[in-house]
Amino acid sequence: MRRLLFNFAAATALIMAGAVAAAWVASFGAGLQVAWRHDPCDVAVYAERGGMSFYLSHVSVPQNTRQGFEWSRATWGMESGDEGWALPNGWRHGAFGWELNRYVSGFDAHLLLPCGIVLLVIVFTPACWVIRRRRQARRRRSGRCLACGYDLRATPDRCPECGADGAA
Ligand SMILES: [Zn+2]
Repeated sequence: MRRLLFNFAAATALIMAGAVAAAWVASFGAGLQVAWRHDPCDVAVYAERGGMSFYLSHVSVPQNTRQGFEWSRATWGMESGDEGWALPNGWRHGAFGWELNRYVSGFDAHLLLPCGIVLLVIVFTPACWVIRRRRQARRRRSGRCLACGYDLRATPDRCPECGADGAA
């Protein structure tokens, strides 16, 4: 079961990495937005000229916008720092930015990151899992502590080096 979950997570990460790489390239043509709305929730990912914006909103006032899944191409001027991307209540530096607005009826949040950083995180995280799992499998085979690698053949129940449970 754990193996299945792991493979599923790794496959998901791979698909996401492919999607981000494609969006990165496409974002230089025109802005690209993928959004999902279902009042009171609004989730959107927008890519433009190598920059990426993640938007999350939860406002209990009807938005009067189309509900459901939607994708579109339009350039909104994220690069030039137009009004919509100025993040007046947050922080913005080039392709990096952050803003959180709280309202009586909810909140919305904006996160701006370069596509390259997003891709790096998506690829790097599962790569770390894989490396860690391989190291643990190697330690398990050779009777070493999974946490620190200390030889547990003499003390299989508990690691005398780091105190980790031998079965962990
Ligand atoms: Zn140990």
